[in-house]
Formats: sequence, structure tokens, C-alpha cells
Amino acid sequence: MILVTGATGNFGGAVIDFLQAEKKDLGIAALLRDKSKGPELRSRNIDIRQGDYNDPHSLLKAFQGVRKLLLVSGNDVQNREQQHRNVIDAAKKARVNHIVYTSFMRKTNNQNNPLGIVGISHINTEKYLKESGIDYTILQNALYFEALPGFLGEEVFEKGIYLPAGQGKVACVLREEMAAAAASVLAHEGHANREYIIANTRNYSMHDVAKQLSHISGKNVEYTPAEPAEFINVLSMEGLPEENIKGIMAFCDAISKGEFETNTTDIEKLLGREPTSLAGFITITFGPEKGRQGEQGF
Ligand code: NAP
Repeated sequence: MILVTGATGNFGGAVIDFLQAEKKDLGIAALLRDKSKGPELRSRNIDIRQGDYNDPHSLLKAFQGVRKLLLVSGNDVQNREQQHRNVIDAAKKARVNHIVYTSFMRKTNNQNNPLGIVGISHINTEKYLKESGIDYTILQNALYFEALPGFLGEEVFEKGIYLPAGQGKVACVLREEMAAAAASVLAHEGHANREYIIANTRNYSMHDVAKQLSHISGKNVEYTPAEPAEFINVLSMEGLPEENIKGIMAFCDAISKGEFETNTTDIEKLLGREPTSLAGFITITFGPEKGRQGEQGF
């Protein structure tokens, strides 16, 4: 039995879709904290298990008979390190053989990570998982392409890109392709005690993003690197809450420092093809036949 956590979310939901598409008799279970969200999954023969990352007892019960488990990192950033420990501890007690964890890519592998608690909670979870004695696979996911529009702002075609991201580059990937890579790790053997960087095979600067936006719109979209202090002033004047400003600044700082730049090709091996490019994402999101909207958030 393979259990997927975060099954009601974008990532976990897509992983379940890909696992079912494998057409193997894998035996798939989904962890839901709110069982009322389960009927659609149940109608597809997914075994529904109730459990909350904050409730160790519920997790132990939910993990009975599970062989492999996908731990989708929580979105309660302040508390998720303890939540992840709860999941790992319960999995150990329930004799789960293998945990696959959705972590985050980075260059700074210590407490000085520019993302602060976002990065440190991943670093500490990886360490805890490795020390648990359970087989692990760590997926150091890149920034979702879907997170980009939140940085660009709604008036990007009129005002251009204004961000304190310097000349940094990012190797973004479509969330769905990261989910496909995770499903491949879950459905096949040979990934125990491995770490993969799930990033694009190409790195993109904000100038590259501006170029693609110009191409799709026929407008002249330019990138102007912002001075951090000036940028904070602009966002404050616009009335953005301090917490949000801190979040955007941390991500831009990380981009400018090259935290999301890499030359690995792990994703190609897991997908069996190249991931979608920046041009592909811009077409999907902003082109005349856009199939998906970009979204806010990290
Ligand atoms: P999402 O749609 O917000 O899904 C989060 C999932 O986690 C939901 O199913 C949610 O369940 C579940 N969850 C949250 N707290 C829980 C708890 N205490 N106990 C049990 N389940 C809990 O996020 P996503 O887009 O799928 O992304 C997955 C994760 O990737 C996020 O949680 C975050 O850590 C990380 N992330 C990465 C990037 C990136 O760029 N790489 C961007 C955004 C997020 P409910 O339905 O009950 O709420």
C-alpha cells in the first residue's frame, strides 16, 4: 500500500492521478484530515485514511499496513517541522518501509538559508528523516512555475517586472511535473536512500521571464532590478502586510543569491523527457488558449 499525504492539495492530488495512471495494482491510500473531502477519491477506489499532522495518534492509526508513504510538506510553515516529525515517528511505529519527502532545493544548507523558517524546516526534516532509520527519498523541489505570477503582479504587462531579484536565475518546474516525478519514485523501486533535485534543466533570469512575456503579449515588458529598501517602501505604501513583504523579500533574496539555480538533470531521468520550459509555462498561463491561471503564494 502506498499512502499519499496532502491528498486534497494540488501536489498530492496530482500524485494520486499519476499513480492511478500507472495501471499497476499499487494499492493507493490518501491521508485526509477532513474525511468529508473524501468521496471523490473514494469513488476512484482510493483507501481514505483520516489523520492530522498535529495528531500523532491519528497518524499511527492511518499508517497501518502502509509500505511506502509520500510526506507532502505542510503549509503551516511555523509549525511544520514538528508536524513532519509526528509523521515520521508514526510511520516508524507503524513499520512503514520507505518515506518520500517533498523538500525544497537550496544552496545554503544551514541555518543561514535566506528563506529562514521555510528553508530551515526542510533542512531539519531531511535530517530527522535520514536519522529515523526508515528508507527515504528526498525530493528537493524547485520553485513551482505556478508561483511566478504572484511575484510578477497583476499589472506586469503594463508596468514590467520590478523585483529585488538581481541577476539571479531560477530553475522552476510545473507543479504537475514535480508530482509526476514523485509518483515515479513511489511506483518504482531503486530510489531508496537517494536525494534528487527536482528542478528544470534550464535556469531562467527575470530578464528571460520579461522576454517571454513580451513575446506572448507583443508588448515591451522589461525587468528592472529593484533596490531592496526601495522595494520594501513601495510594497508598504501599497498597504501589503509586513508578513507578506518579508516572504516576498526572502524569496527574492534567495533568487538573487542563486539558491534556485542548478545544473542537475534528475527530473529528466524521472519523467523520461525534458520538463516544460519557461516559454511553455508562459504560453499555458498567459497565451490565448491559457488552460490554467497562475496563482499567488509559495
Ligand atoms: P496545497 O494545495 O496547499 O496542499 C497542502 C495539503 O497539505 C492539503 O491537502 C492539506 O490538507 C494538507 N495539510 C496541511 N496541513 C495538514 C495537517 N495538519 N494534517 C494533514 N494534512 C495537512 O499545497 P500544494 O500546492 O499541494 O503544495 C504542497 C506543499 O508544497 C505545500 O504544503 C508547501 O509545503 C509546499 N509548497 C512548495 C512550493 C514550491 O514552489 N516548491 C510552493 C507552494 C507550496 P487540507 O485539505 O485539509 O487543508
